[in-house]
Amino acid sequence: MKTSGFRRINNGKTMKEAAKVQGKKADIIIDTKLCKVCGICVEFCPVNNLFIDERKIVEKGVCSGCGMCEERCPDFAITIRLLHGQEAATR
Ligand code: SF4
Ligand code: SF4
Repeated sequence: MKTSGFRRINNGKTMKEAAKVQGKKADIIIDTKLCKVCGICVEFCPVNNLFIDERKIVEKGVCSGCGMCEERCPDFAITIRLLHGQEAATR
């Protein structure tokens, strides 16, 4: 059977499903000196918050705070900052 690649979390929801339910919860800070625009964070974001525009990573403002981009960035270029009073969707 084919699987989606997302782990089952949050009472049976996938990470993707859980993140979609939560909405914007965090700001993304990217250190442009460290980021080499490899696109890994774009690929892993479950809500498609990140994309590449003119050789830089930009966001749409729908971050759920799941932390996947921060965890997967090989250059430690991303920091997520949860908005006041918010908890990460999947941590
Ligand atoms: S994974 Fe890290 S280095 Fe790669 S594009 Fe994203 S922020 Fe930049
Ligand atoms: S923390 Fe990163 S991977 Fe998770 S929703 Fe926000 S931008 Fe996407």
